[in-house]
Amino acid sequence: MITPVGEPRLKRKASAAPAQGPLVDTFGRVHTDLRISVTDRCNFRCSYCMPVEDMKWLPREGILTYEEIERVARVLHGLGVTAVRLTGGEPLVRADLPVLVRKLSALGFEDVSLTTNGVGLPHLAGALVDAGLRRVNVSCDSLDRRRFASITRRDALDAVLAGMDAAEAAGLAPVKVNVVLMRGVNDDEVVDFAAFARATGRPVRFIEYMPLDAAHAWERPDVVPAHEIVDRIGAVFPLEPVGSRDDDPAPADRYRFADGHGEIGVIASVTDNFCGTCNRLRLTADGALRNCLFATQESSVRDLLRSGGSDADLEALCRQVVWNKAAGHGIDSPGFTPPERSMSQIGG
Ligand code: SAM
Repeated sequence: MITPVGEPRLKRKASAAPAQGPLVDTFGRVHTDLRISVTDRCNFRCSYCMPVEDMKWLPREGILTYEEIERVARVLHGLGVTAVRLTGGEPLVRADLPVLVRKLSALGFEDVSLTTNGVGLPHLAGALVDAGLRRVNVSCDSLDRRRFASITRRDALDAVLAGMDAAEAAGLAPVKVNVVLMRGVNDDEVVDFAAFARATGRPVRFIEYMPLDAAHAWERPDVVPAHEIVDRIGAVFPLEPVGSRDDDPAPADRYRFADGHGEIGVIASVTDNFCGTCNRLRLTADGALRNCLFATQESSVRDLLRSGGSDADLEALCRQVVWNKAAGHGIDSPGFTPPERSMSQIGG
């Protein structure tokens, strides 16, 4: 395990990845978790993620087919990946998503999960569960209808809450709720969200705002540090830590309410990054394999697949992408530049 310091994007000297053994990088991090973006399209326009208009969508023929995704996932499963999470864009706007979930479940992953804005869940939750979906995270950045509409540019709070209910009714409880907190935008709702977690039994995950917005307007003061979130909630509803990062590579630091009524989590991507235990690899909708949300380089599995590459070629590419991973995301390095693609184009 490493704790990146100094020059966080530091990479070891370029070298060839090992041809055997686990999917490991030069810092010893073994990769077992794959995020798959199935589309860059979205029915929301969250201000911290997408532009209000003029979004340049990927051409349809540029997007991986479900068969292509399945093939990449099969190779990665063979290399030790145990969990896949589907995301986007908004994954539920891609047609026939249960077909993909069924294919991935059949490959034998221990965990197949989804991150969604929830709007499509009343329609799709049952079919997704039948296809093998195990867990869902629903994003919701305000419990106030008007503010929700102003952040997402869609008047859809009721639809999102109905989506959470539908997921639970279909057997996906507990639904985790993702909240991106932004200073002066929605941070005054931090205790309201804690009360929501207590009342509904839905663990709320507060995510620090990251420099992945399409407008490149992110500024450090906009970030509400995770420790502040914990302090503000703990002052009203006492909290106790659950587990530790050393036991669990998941990015959230979890806390339960001391009176036993539910839990929250904080994802300190900016102020206390968890790069040292990162076990994640990402596949974009157009088939680029990325070793970090903030990577400035990516490798196209789509081009490899469509030019007749073999599974062995695919394996070698996956191994090399992981091997090339930098120590950390480098947000705090002096020369940090965010990736060209915004969160919705990478897959959050
Ligand atoms: N459309 C789906 C949704 O709303 O959850 C999945 C895609 S969305 C890009 C995945 C997650 O990324 C959401 O929880 C969203 O809030 C988060 N996200 C997007 N932009 C972000 C940013 N700049 N900083 C932190 N989180 C961000």
